[in-house]
Amino acid sequence: MAGVLDDRDAGAGVSPPSPQARISPGSSKRWPRKVLIVGGGFAGLECARRLSNDRRFEVTVIDRTNHHLFQPLLYQVATASLAAPDIARSLRQILMKASNVTVLMDEVTDLSPEIQRVKGKSGQIYDYDYLFLAAGVQTSFFGRPEWEAHTLGLKSLTEAQGIRRCVLSNLEKAELTDCEDERRRLMTVVIAGGGPTGVELSGAFTDLVHRSLRDDFRRIDTSDLRVILVEGSNRLLGAYSEKQSAYALRRLEALGVEIRTDTLVADVTEQCVHFADGSTLEAAAIIWTAGTEATPLTRQLGVPLADRAGRLTPEADLSLAGFPEVFIGGDLVSLADSKGDLIPGVAPAAVQMGRHVAKVLKEEARLERTRFKDQKLELRPRFQYFDKGIMAIIGKNAAVVSSGKLKLTGFLAWLAWLFIHILFLVGFRNKLSVLLGWAFAYARNTPDTRIIVQRQE
Ligand SMILES: Cc1cc2nc3c(=O)[nH]c(=O)nc-3n(C[C@H](O)[C@H](O)[C@H](O)COP(=O)(O)OP(=O)(O)OC[C@H]3O[C@@H](n4cnc5c(N)ncnc54)[C@H](O)[C@@H]3O)c2cc1C
Repeated sequence: MAGVLDDRDAGAGVSPPSPQARISPGSSKRWPRKVLIVGGGFAGLECARRLSNDRRFEVTVIDRTNHHLFQPLLYQVATASLAAPDIARSLRQILMKASNVTVLMDEVTDLSPEIQRVKGKSGQIYDYDYLFLAAGVQTSFFGRPEWEAHTLGLKSLTEAQGIRRCVLSNLEKAELTDCEDERRRLMTVVIAGGGPTGVELSGAFTDLVHRSLRDDFRRIDTSDLRVILVEGSNRLLGAYSEKQSAYALRRLEALGVEIRTDTLVADVTEQCVHFADGSTLEAAAIIWTAGTEATPLTRQLGVPLADRAGRLTPEADLSLAGFPEVFIGGDLVSLADSKGDLIPGVAPAAVQMGRHVAKVLKEEARLERTRFKDQKLELRPRFQYFDKGIMAIIGKNAAVVSSGKLKLTGFLAWLAWLFIHILFLVGFRNKLSVLLGWAFAYARNTPDTRIIVQRQE
């Protein structure tokens, strides 16, 4: 793999060092060690926090956005219950007191692990002693990139705001039109993908139209909005028990969501979904939550991919085979836990990986000063995943929780969901006042979030 950062590309006539001649991690004698973290999500941010104010490290966090995003509540921004700032916080602000951490807003476009270099879209080149690649995943269209133009994803704030803008604008247009067919199309939302995101989103849409917007319109009845959740397999929430899947289905149906399992999407064209059985559905909003794939950066590392989604399987210490100074973490990792189950792409797993990488780096810096320094690599600790379980909310007041043998459904599960998200948000927002504001907005459905902000063309 000849990366664009290769000196040969620059015409300098200097070949990059062969992998064997590469500087082994921490042997550059350069202190502080340069740690480059790509991605300020759950994994990257945790690693930066753990290394903060440790003078043995000079840390740079590069993210293409200027904020850390609390993705678990994205669906609430999409369904107009929360405003964007409620679930995002400036990375600079979070890391303000970490004097050895620099935050840069840039999109990493090229990795050249052979010469320990990274290039950003800005043209900047970044050298490192250690690289932590934690750039997460993006929406996958299973080899049909043309579907992206006709669908809305839910991976970023921009996308969540796009869904909100689309659905609210469609309701406005439905209020205007005299054409019944047009109104029906405008008031149809198809959500492809019956995993946690599709389930949470469809439940929240019913809250929006049955409760929050109920009295806002005169010509249309917002509760006529058809929300159709489509899933290719035979049940929703495939990662949960069959009983919990059945509960989610019953609960969503009671809320008015139309569920179609065993239904494969064959094609998506403008405002129309075509199914494998030959049927079609016209919908002015088509939301795609059916799959994700790793950041394309993983394909530049020149190592075998773990799956078609481009994820990577690291060594036990989370470093990359053949590149002990490169670590990977978060959603782009495909790794089995001690029981042999694949570690899920959830925030706690990403946080634990970020924490582990920081631990390895600190331990390595410590060993550097001891008689064991030549055994640094063998002494690296293994990553051990502590499974805290998974949960999904189903409209207000109901959820499913699966944690080991504990399987909760209904109101109790919803309370657990609320408690855990509040705990997470306390650490995230750092201010009880903001948290109370969030709780209030959540309970009342803040009307401000229903403002349609048109996108600048
Ligand atoms: C809608 C939704 C709901 C979810 N709900 C839950 C839930 O309830 N509970 C749960 O535990 N998990 C949930 N998850 C999953 C959870 O959010 C992820 O597992 C977690 O965010 C993964 O962390 P990460 O650090 O790997 O990646 P991310 O948090 O995605 O962070 C990746 C970062 O990398 C940046 N980046 C990407 N590419 C580049 C590049 N080329 N250059 C520079 N920066 C780049 C991105 O801007 C981003 O900030 C949800 C996810 C979604 C999308």
